[in-house]
Amino acid sequence: MIIHLKKDTGEKQVQDMADSLEAMIVKSNGHITLVTSSKVKVVNKTYEGLIDDYFVFDTDIQLAHRKYGSGKREVTIGSIKIGGKHRNTLLIAGPCSVESEEQITQSAELCKSLGISTLRAGCFKPRTSPYTFQGMGLEGLKLLAKMREKYGLNIITEVRDATHVADVIEYADIVQIGAKAMYDHGILRQCGKANKPILLKRSFGATLQEFVQAAEFILSGGNEQVILCERGIRTFESKTRFTLDLCGTAYLKEHTNLPIILDPSHAIGYAYGVPDLARACLAMGVEGLLIEAHPNPKVAKSDAGQQLDHDTFTELHKSLKNLAKALDRELI
Ligand code: PEP
Ligand code: MN
Repeated sequence: MIIHLKKDTGEKQVQDMADSLEAMIVKSNGHITLVTSSKVKVVNKTYEGLIDDYFVFDTDIQLAHRKYGSGKREVTIGSIKIGGKHRNTLLIAGPCSVESEEQITQSAELCKSLGISTLRAGCFKPRTSPYTFQGMGLEGLKLLAKMREKYGLNIITEVRDATHVADVIEYADIVQIGAKAMYDHGILRQCGKANKPILLKRSFGATLQEFVQAAEFILSGGNEQVILCERGIRTFESKTRFTLDLCGTAYLKEHTNLPIILDPSHAIGYAYGVPDLARACLAMGVEGLLIEAHPNPKVAKSDAGQQLDHDTFTELHKSLKNLAKALDRELI
């Protein structure tokens, strides 16, 4: 149950009511909201006078539920807005990892030349093997900050574990929580306190319920700027790296109030399929696409097989622009 309290409710009354309902107190934008387990359906009459409005739910998808709030949430990234009433699709492009100043400069120049607002690249990589490239760490974050400064781009980069969340929050315009980190409650809770938009990727083994409940951890920490990212789930199929869950995407559009970004690159894992998939993703009417591109994919230090070279990416970008027009959406 979500309970909006009246503005003038005193601290002690808020605390008493929260204790009696075993509720979380969520403070954001000057509003005080209590969120209980969805098992709670009614409030004791003694508290009725403190309540402005309340919402009852079947499951613990509550703050993210489509029935809560006035439609899709709006998320602001620098001067850009997605979600809400906007028909914007944010294109996030760049390599899997920051590898060198020269490489990330080439990526930033690609974004700039195509009018793409948001550059992606990981600095703390959650690799499957400890013996492969793990990312440039803080040095990489500084290079990304340099790219933002020089080219006026927004930066999105991922957090791998709780030891460097504060650094990533400081340097990034959007903080990415990767698929493997979706269950990390240290990260989720710290991102709940951050004043930055959070892109939460779905773990490849998570149900939609688990995915959205992970987002609830961030929302209930007081951070309203959460974006969901579907990046493929593990199925019986082994010919592609993962299976992009577009049915799940339709579910998230219908049942949650969060903007959605689709990531065809990590889903298929092979560059040959990314352009067609990216167009299919745009046709889903989502708030963003995340596409990996590298100046020289053959020598990429991570995810080499799925990154588009810059010529292929430029071709794809042209067709996405045309498709967006046909869909009455703006690619930003
Ligand atoms: C990435 O975005 O480079 C990444 C590691 O993605 P995922 O967490 O979806 O595997
Ligand atoms: Mn990657």
